[in-house]
Amino acid sequence: MYSNSLIELDRAHLIHPVASYRGHEAQGVRVLASAKGATVTDAYGRQLIDGFAGLWCVNAGYGHESIVEAATRQMRELPYATAYFGLGSEPAIRLAAELAERAPGDLNHIYFTLGGSDAVDSTIRFIRYYWIARGKPRRDQFISLEQGYHGSSTVGAGLTALPNFHAGFGIPFDWQHKIPSPYPYRNPAGDDPKWIIAASLAALRAKVEAIGADRVAAFYVEPIQGSGGVIVPPKGWLKAMRDLCRELDILFVADEVITGFGRTGPLFACSEEDIVPDFMTTAKGLTSGYVPMGAVFMADHVYQTIAEGAGASAVGHGYTYSAHPVSAAVALEVLKLYEGGLLENGVKAGARLMAGLEAMRDHPLVGDVRGRGMLAAIELVTDKTARTPLPAETQPARRIFDRAWENGLVIRAFANGVLGYAPPLCCTDADIDAILEKTAKTLDQTLEDPDVRRALRD
Ligand code: PLP
Repeated sequence: MYSNSLIELDRAHLIHPVASYRGHEAQGVRVLASAKGATVTDAYGRQLIDGFAGLWCVNAGYGHESIVEAATRQMRELPYATAYFGLGSEPAIRLAAELAERAPGDLNHIYFTLGGSDAVDSTIRFIRYYWIARGKPRRDQFISLEQGYHGSSTVGAGLTALPNFHAGFGIPFDWQHKIPSPYPYRNPAGDDPKWIIAASLAALRAKVEAIGADRVAAFYVEPIQGSGGVIVPPKGWLKAMRDLCRELDILFVADEVITGFGRTGPLFACSEEDIVPDFMTTAKGLTSGYVPMGAVFMADHVYQTIAEGAGASAVGHGYTYSAHPVSAAVALEVLKLYEGGLLENGVKAGARLMAGLEAMRDHPLVGDVRGRGMLAAIELVTDKTARTPLPAETQPARRIFDRAWENGLVIRAFANGVLGYAPPLCCTDADIDAILEKTAKTLDQTLEDPDVRRALRD
C-alpha cells in the first residue's frame, strides 16, 4: 500500500530530528498527507485536530490560499535574490520595515535567517562582534536558563539546557552557563511570584559574580519556556530580569521563536511586559511554517556599535538564503492575516482552551495547568501533594502521544508527563472543544494504564 512503501523508504533513508533512530525504525513513520484549518489528514485518510500547530509554528492554520498565491506570485516574478553585494528584493525590504514598525521599542534592524536555530546562532556572533567593537573582548560568557531551548546549532544547543541536546555532542562549551528556571510549579522558592522573581534575580547576580562582572556578554530567555515544558514565569519576572541585565550592562536576548506572532496573544510576548530587549529572535509563526524563515531583531544601539566597529569592512556573517524573497512574500501575507482577525481569534480561542484545561484540574492525574493565549500545558503527577512526576516506566512521551493520536488529536507529550498545546490561532470553538474532549479521553485512558495505576498505588 502507498503508505507502507513510504514507511520502508523512510526507514531506509530519512533521518528524523530528535529521534531515537532505533526506536523510529521499529515504530515506523506516520505520514501526513494534507491539512486544512486546524485539521491534518494522514496517508490513511484519518483526520486529526492539530493541537500543536505542527511544531508550534502553523499559527495561521493550514490551507490559506492567499499565502499560496503570495508564494506563487513571488516565485514567478523573482524566486531568488541574494542580499549580498548590496542587492535586495522588495518583499524582504518591506517585511523588515513592517516588522520594525511593530517591534517593541527600538528593535529597528532585522536580520533574516532560515529558522530559529540560525537566528539564535546569529545573535551569538553579533554579540561577540558587539563587545569586541566596544573594546571589551573579554565579555565572552553567555548565560541561559535551565529547561531553556535555544535551538540545535552547534553553539546554540549549548545555550539550550535539555540533556539530550548535549549528550554525545561534547557541549555545552565552558563559556555557556545556566541559572535555574523560574518554573513556578517546581520552584524551591515556592509558588509565590515575589519569591520566584527574587530567586531568579539572586541567581543571575550570583552567576555573574562567579563568572566575573566584566566577563558576561548576554543573558538569553524565552518569555515562556517552550520545549522545557511550557513553563510560564510569573507576571513581572521578564521585566525584572531585563532591568537587572541593564543594571549589570549585560545584553538581554528574548528568544520569541515560539512566543512570537500571536502565540501568547499579541505579536510579541515582550510587549505584554512592556520590555525592549537588545535582541529578539523569531521564526515559526513569522511564516506560519509555510516556508522556512527566521528573523533577528537588533536594537539601535547594538546596530550602531557594530556598524561603527566594522567601519568600511564587511561584517562577515551571512547565508545564501538570508532575506529570501519567497519567504518574505509569505511572511508579509501571513502578517496581513494575523492583523486581519487571526490574532483576535487566537485570544478568544486561547481563553476557551485555558478555561477547558483549567476544568480538568480535578482529574486524579492533573497536577498543574498553565499557559497564556494559545500556548498551554497540563502537568501530570501521581501524587498532587508531593507533585510526583509520572515515573519513566509509564513512558509518558510515547504512550500519551500515541493515545492522543488514536483519539484524533496531535499534542506534544513531554518525557516528564507534561502535555503541551499550541493550536493554530484559526481554531473555531468546535476545534477547541474537540481538543478538550480528546484530551479528557486521553487522560482517562492514561489513568487506566497498568504502570500508571501501580505508580498511583505506591
Ligand atoms: N528558540 C526557541 C525558543 C525554539 O523553541 C526553537 C524551536 O523550537 C528554536 C529556537 C529553534 O528553531 P528552529 O527549530 O526553527 O531552528
